[in-house]
Amino acid sequence: MSTEGRFAGKTIIVTGAGSGIGRATAVRLAEEGARLVVSDVVAGRLDELKAALPGADVRTVAGDVSNPRTVEGIADACGGELHGLANIAGIMDGFLPVGELDDETWERVMGVNVTAPMRLTRAALPFLIEAGGGSIVNVASEAALRGSSAGAAYTASKHAVIGLTKNTAFMYGPQGVRVNAVAPGAVATNIEAGIRSEFAAGRIFPLMKAIGSPVADPQRLAAAITWLLSDDSLNVNGAILPSDGGWSAA
Ligand code: NAD
Repeated sequence: MSTEGRFAGKTIIVTGAGSGIGRATAVRLAEEGARLVVSDVVAGRLDELKAALPGADVRTVAGDVSNPRTVEGIADACGGELHGLANIAGIMDGFLPVGELDDETWERVMGVNVTAPMRLTRAALPFLIEAGGGSIVNVASEAALRGSSAGAAYTASKHAVIGLTKNTAFMYGPQGVRVNAVAPGAVATNIEAGIRSEFAAGRIFPLMKAIGSPVADPQRLAAAITWLLSDDSLNVNGAILPSDGGWSAA
């Protein structure tokens, strides 16, 4: 079935749009007619994305999404009109277990992965309600479903994303705002996934190898995220959708 024009006349925010899953989602949304407000901490990546989408209505907001001023800039760029929000920007934690975890890593990971989506959701809600409803999609992770695929900070942050998703879905569903999360398995992107703990490597990697978790391209995630953003998923609210090639079934 063609999904062409699925987002015609809709304004959608995409964070982390400069690379990987965020970029693939922004490109697909533009191809399906969306007006985009895209954000990333790396300004050059946004310029490159805009150049790659000639003819599309793309507004760029460069900045650290964990900074409240960036959230204000994103909200302002919507011009009072919003139908969807994809909270995709996120960072990893070096796979540090709690015994080796420094406060700076904890605070940075929670700030980008949890506080920023909360603030953006808070900023987006009045617009979505005003529009008669809308869809928010958060990007969780395999680390939101289990304790064996990342460090303590990343795992806690992605579990928190699930809580934010479910609570917001429950609270605002009656006003037409749907909130769902996609939980990707391994995806080939530019995310910094270096391991900073030998102890964690010894715990995690043999298990991952045994499960044989597949690596997806970002377009597979964009397909799931845009489905949840679209009216094709109108009856879905508060769901956590693994898009992991079956990893979570292991
Ligand atoms: P990526 O690094 O390729 O893209 C993420 C983008 O977000 C980058 O352009 C980066 O500049 C931007 N970003 C990072 N920190 C930011 C900040 N503070 N403010 C604004 N922008 C910021 O990574 P990706 O793999 O596409 O990651 C996207 C999301 O998917 C993240 O939430 C990540 O946790 C999640 N995820 C990724 C994988 C994977 O295997 N790649 C697996 C599960 C979940």
